[in-house]
Amino acid sequence: MRTDEQALAYGGGWLDRAGALRADPEWIDARLADRESVLLPFWRDRCLVSADRAPVRHAAVDAARLCAAADETVFLGLDAGRAVFAVDLSGRTEPEALELAGAVETVDVRALVGGLTPAEAAVQAYAKGLLHWHRGQRYCGGCGATAAARDGGHVRTCTGPDCGRLLFPRIEPAVIVLVEAPGDPDRCLLARHRGAAEDSWSTLAGFVEIGESLEDAVRRELAEEAGVSVVDVAYQGSQAWPFPAGLMVGFRATAASTDVRVDGEELVAARWFSRGELRARLAQGRPLGRIDSIDHHLLESWLNGRS
Ligand SMILES: [Zn+2]
Repeated sequence: MRTDEQALAYGGGWLDRAGALRADPEWIDARLADRESVLLPFWRDRCLVSADRAPVRHAAVDAARLCAAADETVFLGLDAGRAVFAVDLSGRTEPEALELAGAVETVDVRALVGGLTPAEAAVQAYAKGLLHWHRGQRYCGGCGATAAARDGGHVRTCTGPDCGRLLFPRIEPAVIVLVEAPGDPDRCLLARHRGAAEDSWSTLAGFVEIGESLEDAVRRELAEEAGVSVVDVAYQGSQAWPFPAGLMVGFRATAASTDVRVDGEELVAARWFSRGELRARLAQGRPLGRIDSIDHHLLESWLNGRS
């Protein structure tokens, strides 16, 4: 069985992204004027929260005031027919953004995730990722002219007279791999990454490069970072990871041998763990990766004997 999609944070397709409707600016304006619509304010990648650490939501009755103060307003989608927008107040100081939003604090969504519903976590992360892209894509990379948002904020168009390039939100895919040892006993390869805590072990991961398939990237990353050749690369599931632009693609693979040679750059150590060893760590209260990450779910799935 593949990774349980429902168990992974930040995904789930909670909103109808209304791809055909959002291209119509009049439809977007009408949604912004609709009192049923909702606006979610953000400040420099951070959620704006109330005293109970719930993300602030504004009814569209405040739209004109918030949108006038914002660098960007983007349409996220429809929630049971109700339009949901994200509003970027990053051009303001933090106290100004808090006052405009009626919030008490700015908090990163990953610090809030345990207290949010899966839908709230997914929508907040999606909004953060889309607004982050807008802040970094104000200009065309081809001619340097300004780029203007359209389609509810899902495309920017270069305004250069001889260019007109379409700029789409950038997504950076990365592979994350649970590697099993060949033969018995069942063991998996975990690594300590440079800068991680002394006892922090995780699966191996790396960005996909231009001209690679996902499977190519798995084989290269394992060879480069851990000196491990792998076979039987099998897709397990994927996770939206808009921090700021990731898409984590999970795999299992089998090592050709148990020889390991870390690169000393990205990884400082790597070794094989048995299921018993990992269960003993859990029993001691030592978690397997961050609970909101696919790393945790790849490990949990392997530990539970699912393949
Ligand atoms: Zn251009």
